[in-house]
Amino acid sequence: MSSTKLPFADKKLGQHFLRDKKYIQKITDDFKDQDCLIIEVGPGPAILTPSLAKHDKEFYVVEKDERFFDRLKEHVKEDHIILGDALEQEFAWEGPIWLVSNLPYNISVPLILKFTQKKNIQWMTLMVQKEVGERMLAPHHSKGNDRGSLMCLIENYFDVKMLCHVPPGAFVPPPKVDSVVLSFTRKAKPEITLESFKKYEEFCRILFSNRRKQVGKVLKSKYEKERIERAFKNCGLELTRRAETFHQDEVCSLYKEFHGN
Ligand code: SAM
Repeated sequence: MSSTKLPFADKKLGQHFLRDKKYIQKITDDFKDQDCLIIEVGPGPAILTPSLAKHDKEFYVVEKDERFFDRLKEHVKEDHIILGDALEQEFAWEGPIWLVSNLPYNISVPLILKFTQKKNIQWMTLMVQKEVGERMLAPHHSKGNDRGSLMCLIENYFDVKMLCHVPPGAFVPPPKVDSVVLSFTRKAKPEITLESFKKYEEFCRILFSNRRKQVGKVLKSKYEKERIERAFKNCGLELTRRAETFHQDEVCSLYKEFHGN
């Protein structure tokens, strides 16, 4: 799509339209060989949409900006176009879902947390602000390295890979930040079950609320001293450790000591 044809971009809705074909192709090919239903969130004026529609799978789109309806219906069945806030949708479609989105950056984290809780979403290809991507992409080596609560949550439920970096110049209008596209595959057996998502999320939030402070002290805002000491002892962890040095396995074992699975 050429830039002259693009409609006015509404900043409140995080609208930056991708116009570089090579990124469009990378994103829309990511899980095309899976047997799945495709959902695109925030299709805008049908940028990724035509290529996704060509995969010839059941295809739905969820878009808040009603201006795009006419463009979208050229590629998607009218009753498969949901005009509304993705944060308020149920995502209750049956069957394995591949969710694709060049996410509106202002609500990318709440949307990702929502998608994570939907078991049917098996694969995701998501464009996010580079800094948010770095908070989800676990380091390869085993110890710490800026692990935070979002990473601990995501790594428990998904295998995440970097698909590509996308510079501001690939969009109209260009955003002020760099972007990355990440590829997510849901783990068949997460260490902490999806039923425990809320509790695990709260635990991670508290654990990483002060990453440079000793974890034994941080957790006192929520748990009794004896319980903390017992949990750390059972996990073979030192109370003086800082959250930023924790490995995923250690976070999960500690969570289980406090809450079971
Ligand atoms: N898919 C297009 C692309 O790749 O260029 C547009 C992506 S643009 C970054 C984000 C899109 O999400 C916009 O179309 C915007 O209107 C839509 N959007 C913003 N907030 C939304 C929400 N709460 N629910 C659904 N769509 C939303």
